[in-house]
Amino acid sequence: MPGISSKKYYDTIKAAVEDEHTQLKRDANLRHLMLREKSGYAQFRDLQMAKNKTSASKFKVLEELDRYLIRFEKHFTGNGGKVMWANDAAEAVVKIKNILTTSEKGALYSSRKILDETGFFNSLKKKETVPLPGNTEENVAKIQEEKYSHQVWNVMDVSEEENHEKLRELFFPEEEVISAKALGRALRSNLIDEISEKDILISEADLLATDTGALVFYKNSGDEWLASARVKKHIVIAGIDRLIPSLEDLDVILPLHASASGSGEIHPVTDILTSPRKKGELDGPEELIVILVNNGRTDLLANKRTRKILTCIHCGACQNHCPVYALAGVAPYENSITGPYGVVTANTLSSEKPFDHLHYATTLCGKCSDVCPVDINLHEMMVFNRREAIKNGRTDEDVKRFIKAYKFVTASRRRMNLGPASLKNMLLKNHIGNYWGGGRALPKVAPKNFSQLFAEKHRS
Ligand code: SF4
Repeated sequence: MPGISSKKYYDTIKAAVEDEHTQLKRDANLRHLMLREKSGYAQFRDLQMAKNKTSASKFKVLEELDRYLIRFEKHFTGNGGKVMWANDAAEAVVKIKNILTTSEKGALYSSRKILDETGFFNSLKKKETVPLPGNTEENVAKIQEEKYSHQVWNVMDVSEEENHEKLRELFFPEEEVISAKALGRALRSNLIDEISEKDILISEADLLATDTGALVFYKNSGDEWLASARVKKHIVIAGIDRLIPSLEDLDVILPLHASASGSGEIHPVTDILTSPRKKGELDGPEELIVILVNNGRTDLLANKRTRKILTCIHCGACQNHCPVYALAGVAPYENSITGPYGVVTANTLSSEKPFDHLHYATTLCGKCSDVCPVDINLHEMMVFNRREAIKNGRTDEDVKRFIKAYKFVTASRRRMNLGPASLKNMLLKNHIGNYWGGGRALPKVAPKNFSQLFAEKHRS
């Protein structure tokens, strides 16, 4: 486990903080999102009511999660779909891979957030599962072979020009220059052929409506829809926290998510999928399979201090406004789920746990909680998780030694008065300098303490 004193961890963050070039690109992308957030929120006559309504709908499901899960399964299977259950990441991976063995042509994926959470890609020997060709964000992320740089907007640390250049290199290496329009046209003209070369699509649902068994996807383009219409099997992965009571809840959740995520008033494309291809229909997958993933979500639910995180609508607003992310990007997170939401859930939802040092990847300024559209008290959860880690002995050994010594010294006035300030400053520098961070000045012990100054004043 990389401890919070891990030099490698600090060095990675330090390098990210000093990388002004990437920071400027991230900054420009964030400013753009914030403008769209503002214009999106302006559409609400009563924004607070929309937030309360969304939070209440999500909480309603949590209170009776078992009943709503069964309700979803009943409607979805009633429409001809198939439901599989995965209690943890390993089970999810086995289920996906079992379906992939039935493929004759290979699979496409359209996003990989929960796939990354399960560690699916690390388990593949061959890279036979490829991103949907028209999905530029996934393709750029693949070229970079990096984790996502944002919960919603996968490629935040890349400028528009770089994005264009990377796609040109990937798809048209023979062309030295290609205009944005021509690149877009060329990518789309090959799309149907490239989709037809595969027979399975893996995607991730944003919401699952339990009254109808409908799957809801927010998208930037209709490419996934096109792929779903053509493949033989469509596998949809979803965390069990994605349930909503009914399709009617979309009237508020959709514009609220679009606004908070920085998409503007509404997402460019919203797909609602209710069943596999029915008799007489011309397109649609022959098999539609949903894999419902628990992977620690019921542990979050069981704890009343962290339960509310499951009402998250995955808008990424907490990340857009987080000063740690603005300065250091994804470097501090180290897991596949980034931003304040990732800090809170890393230890529970990640297949690479433990990540206790992430409880410190925050300034605890509370901005994340302020901007969260469903009013999740993220920063308080971070403090709670810190306390739990310390209580259960999951703290770096150096920190444990320091806290023990600190308690011993500060519990006695006589010991506090021992030695000159210069010695105390040296001890502090040597023992907590690593955790304090090289870029911050340690507070200095004054030459005389309060009782000495008080005694002097009253002697004179
Ligand atoms: S915690 Fe709140 S702000 Fe962050 S992604 Fe979830 S809903 Fe959005």
